[in-house]
Order: sequence, then structure tokens, then C-alpha cells
Amino acid sequence: MTLFTVDHEKCERDGICAAECPMGIIEVKDKESVPHPIEGAENLCINCGHCVAVCPHGAFSLTTMEADTCPAVDGNLLPSFAIVSHMIRARRSIRVYKDKRVGREVLEKLIDTARYAPTGKNTQLVRWLIITNKDTIKELAG
Ligand code: SF4
Repeated sequence: MTLFTVDHEKCERDGICAAECPMGIIEVKDKESVPHPIEGAENLCINCGHCVAVCPHGAFSLTTMEADTCPAVDGNLLPSFAIVSHMIRARRSIRVYKDKRVGREVLEKLIDTARYAPTGKNTQLVRWLIITNKDTIKELAG
């Protein structure tokens, strides 16, 4: 199975994907050719999704990842400097909690987002465990 496919119609042969790939496994032979994987690319790819995200023409598809997991940066969704500054300066460590459970749906959404945090070579070795039993939580906190 080839690591990726490139839509020949959409591809502008600009080589952005090859320049961006941190593993250097995308090759563009010349200005007329579409990018192709180097030999053994499937074993070297770290599934970072950069190649899909940076293609301004939507021509690049990975066979290992859905396109919607590799979104390009959307400037409209970025917080302003004032918001980031406020979030950092107003942040406080909370040590007193309400006696109210956080819903499973909220926890799952948070963890699903947190798993995209950067890890070395995209290894994603972090594992999450949700503990809801109060006695267990107390025991672990102790
Ligand atoms: S997912 Fe990352 S490592 Fe794999 S081909 Fe794309 S840019 Fe390269």
C-alpha cells in the first residue's frame, strides 16, 4: 500500500509537501512531476500530517490518516494576543473543587483534543486514565 496519493489535477507541483515533511520521505523529481514517496517511506512516516495540512491545493491524501485529522491553521480560529495573555496571566491552580462530577462526554472531548499535543516524533506515548471512584481518587491524591 502506498503511503500517500496526490491528485494530479489539483497538484501545482510546488513541492511544499516535500519541503515540509520532517522525515524527508516525499520526493519531487522535477517541476513536471507530482510528489511520490521514497522507497520504504511507509516505515519512516511518523503520521504527523504536515504534508496534508500544508498543501494549499488540497491535493495530498495520506492512506494512514483521515484528511480532517490534519487541518491547516485557520486564522479565524486563533485566539488574539489579548486572549492568550489573559489566559496565561489569569490562570490559577485550583485545589478546591465542587462536589460535582464532570460529565464523561466533556472528559472525552478534552482528552481527544489533548492527545494532539506535540510528542517527540509524534510517538504519542501518553496514556490517560479516567478515575471516577471518589475513594480511589482520595487514595491516589494522598
Ligand atoms: S505524515 Fe509527516 S512524516 Fe509522513 S509523509 Fe506526511 S509529512 Fe512526512
